[in-house]
Amino acid sequence: MTPSTSDADATGTAPGSHIGRSHYPQASTLEDLQRNLAAVQARITAACQRVGRDPASVRLLPVSKTMDEARIRLSYAAGCRQWGENKVQEAHRKWQAMADLADVRWSVIGHLQTNKAKLVARFATEFQALDSLRLAQVLDQHLRAQGRVLDVFVQVNTSGEASKYGLPPQDVAAFLQALPAFPALRVRGLMTLALLSPETARVRQCFIGLRTLRDQLRASAPAGLCLDGLSMGMSGDFEIAIEEGATVVRVGQAIFGARALPDSHYWPNEPAEPAHQN
Ligand SMILES: *Cc1c(COP(=O)(O)O)cnc(C)c1O
Repeated sequence: MTPSTSDADATGTAPGSHIGRSHYPQASTLEDLQRNLAAVQARITAACQRVGRDPASVRLLPVSKTMDEARIRLSYAAGCRQWGENKVQEAHRKWQAMADLADVRWSVIGHLQTNKAKLVARFATEFQALDSLRLAQVLDQHLRAQGRVLDVFVQVNTSGEASKYGLPPQDVAAFLQALPAFPALRVRGLMTLALLSPETARVRQCFIGLRTLRDQLRASAPAGLCLDGLSMGMSGDFEIAIEEGATVVRVGQAIFGARALPDSHYWPNEPAEPAHQN
């Protein structure tokens, strides 16, 4: 049983969202992964249908952080060809170990320190947490040295929480103006992490905020920057994000099962046991 699908009402609110991690059963076999992927895909399709969107306009990015190589290879067998990883060293290690897999893409979705930009430039096809010009400059430098380009999303802090990375919404316009100076970075859109809350109206507000900001920025963004992408939504809230315009959903636990490590390992200052556990 997958969380929240059957609870979703006609308006698209999902009372079962933000389910505690213990509610995501482990996926340890190929069949488990196939079933979970099909269930997530069905929920994506249903969310799209509620708001008249084409399901093909939403990319599912499976988030494989903490999952070992064997589990990721199983997900490849189940059809996955891209994975999102929060920590760059972990991602790089997996990229090296699975260099034999054809047609795969690695996306770094977590905060990046400038001194690790070189590693990202080496293997990643996408970076979703761009939030400083210094980082943009260093990434661009390393990418050009290697003759590579990188798709990037600018991370925006839509929840106002001090613990979240990302630019304050009011700083994004000026930030975008500076990005054409870094030709190896291909801007694809904006990314956000919503509030972790059982109050779906407040979660939804984060997603509306990102879409509205994107729509406003279109008028002033430098030519050549693409702002079509909205990376928003995770296991607990991706249906709401799709209803509000997400083009990429980053889903880990609903595919792979609960993670052993608490979110605080990945997101600084996040409480070890989120208040949204039910
Ligand atoms: C871990 C993570 C996700 C996925 O979270 P799940 O609850 O596993 O779906 C999405 N985005 C970012 C930035 C993450 O670190």
